[in-house]
Amino acid sequence: MSVSALDIRVQKTENSRISELHPDNIHFGKQYSDHMLVARYEDGEWHQAEIVPFDNLSLSPATTFMHYGQAIFEGVKAYKDPQGNPIVFRPRDNWKRMNRSAVRMAMPEVPEELFIDGIARLIDIDRDWIPDQDGTSLYIRPFMIATDEFIGVRPAEKFLFIIITSPAGPYYSKPVSIYVQDEFVRAFPGGIGFTKAAGNYGMSMYPTQQIRKMGYDQILWTDGFEHKYVQEIGTMNVFFVIGDKVITPDLKQDVILEGVTRDSVITLLREKGIIVEERLISIEEIEVAAKAGQLKEAFGTGTAASIAPISTLTYHDDKMELPPVEQWEITNWLKEELANIRYGRKADTHGWIYKV
Ligand SMILES: *Cc1c(COP(=O)(O)O)cnc(C)c1O
Repeated sequence: MSVSALDIRVQKTENSRISELHPDNIHFGKQYSDHMLVARYEDGEWHQAEIVPFDNLSLSPATTFMHYGQAIFEGVKAYKDPQGNPIVFRPRDNWKRMNRSAVRMAMPEVPEELFIDGIARLIDIDRDWIPDQDGTSLYIRPFMIATDEFIGVRPAEKFLFIIITSPAGPYYSKPVSIYVQDEFVRAFPGGIGFTKAAGNYGMSMYPTQQIRKMGYDQILWTDGFEHKYVQEIGTMNVFFVIGDKVITPDLKQDVILEGVTRDSVITLLREKGIIVEERLISIEEIEVAAKAGQLKEAFGTGTAASIAPISTLTYHDDKMELPPVEQWEITNWLKEELANIRYGRKADTHGWIYKV
């Protein structure tokens, strides 16, 4: 196949559901827009992509990904700029990351045209689904599944690449309470922690269910050897403001998901002259800083949640309370700055905005 000659076949819906979209009632991941993109990989190549009405898939119960988890995904967002034009935030970075996940999971890489033009065509067609109130966006979910009809365990040969989109409001309405997990483990060197592979989330459900029962929102994972160094939170990277420095775990050892928001935040902070350290950070260091009144701010970053302030961190019986969020200078500035860039209200000096 000629991926460079990728022309996407379009079959538009005759029954748009756009009238069901109510600006005041947008929740994350509850509603899907009218169309989806589907591309098939078979016989060693990608076949023509199609944009079709959003609908159920029909798959054999023996489809491999359902049994062995050869499945990966991405999360991207589209916004409306002040003129009402659709813009997408850093989709090429998601494309590159999807392919890093694909390689590790023995899945075919997705051609750039398929990923980027696929998003652009889909957003163009479903542009009315991008809400335009502050704090809202259209969440874009590209994903790939292995579709061999075979229940033997072996790397698959057939795959589906699909993109669906969903209008999204704010992910967390208030600062999150965090439980520092030192029993269950998310990632270890040589594993798949750096990928957005389905299994990473499947394994987190039980520990998350347990801490929710205890009244916490999310888990802060620690390393698999010593349960000493912090990694990340649920679907967010994590940052701590200690004294006048910002510290976040580094990406060595492939145990942490390389967030696009993480990279954007580090870039903006450094441009502002704030010191950002990417390094190992132990829970003990955080506790010591909290006791000394030096733990000033802490937040998670991700496409879905954007920047989520942390209200408390609980490690064993040590409950670390952070100061009231209104007093946080760095996080509040970052939130505003990032939102201005994402919504096209501020000049894009980094080449982060993709115009549809
Ligand atoms: C998606 C995700 C993030 C955030 O990545 P972004 O590119 O900023 O959305 C962080 N950690 C995990 C585990 C994730 O799945």
